[in-house]
Amino acid sequence: MTYFLHRTPSILHNVARASVVPGSSGGGVPASAGPVDPGLIEDLVAANRILADQGVLDGYGHVSVRHPGSPERYLLSRSLAPELVTTADIMEYDLDSNPVDQRGRSMYLERFIHGEIYKARPEVNAVVHSHSPAVVPFGVSSVPLRALYHMSAFLSVGVPLFEIRDAGGMTDLLVRNPDLGRALAKTLADKPVALMRGHGNVVVGSDIPLAVYRAVYTEVNARLQVQAIMLGGSITYLEPEEGQLAAINVGGTIGRPWELWKKKALGK
Ligand SMILES: [Zn+2]
Repeated sequence: MTYFLHRTPSILHNVARASVVPGSSGGGVPASAGPVDPGLIEDLVAANRILADQGVLDGYGHVSVRHPGSPERYLLSRSLAPELVTTADIMEYDLDSNPVDQRGRSMYLERFIHGEIYKARPEVNAVVHSHSPAVVPFGVSSVPLRALYHMSAFLSVGVPLFEIRDAGGMTDLLVRNPDLGRALAKTLADKPVALMRGHGNVVVGSDIPLAVYRAVYTEVNARLQVQAIMLGGSITYLEPEEGQLAAINVGGTIGRPWELWKKKALGK
């Protein structure tokens, strides 16, 4: 069975396809990259609910996946609390974050985070933006977020901090346009996680399970790091080499928590 993301009459679809080159910002409605495997849509829905279950997303925040039919498109829910997202809510966007088939649906203001990161990072296929609470203090403190244990070894490459004033001066802190999205992607550079000062964080991965795993364990690491700091002694963080070795090992086992989280999240 094939799940069709948009139901634009084919004549309009063809006009859109003819008039807009995928990935261009030439105006008009971007063409769809075509139907998507329903299993991927189900994973994206599951990711929304898992991240809500795990306290990473609440009524806010979002998770997206790159369209498997074109690197110039991505999939993201309409503006909705993540826990409520269903397959019918998933929309397709071009990398300028224009909707392929809006049909009056409201869109996340900060969708530019996703489009601009997909432009800058060809190997990234899933993006999570959250205000996950334990991480927020590290975005406003001089204490850096650092890999404390093997489960969050991916943090040992360093966690950059996005200072939105450097990109946009005084703002409401939201990444609400392509320029701010580009600046955030530049700060993220080649890393898996970036903090956003006074706001939240962004986490990326090569697929949905990896991005979800990283978002969950970024939050857990932040909680544990605060506990370690409160103990009062000195702290031994993972060495970069330990981080590399541990990340390789954990990378091979992500299917285990993913299947558990997915079953619980979709079984509600
Ligand atoms: Zn946000």
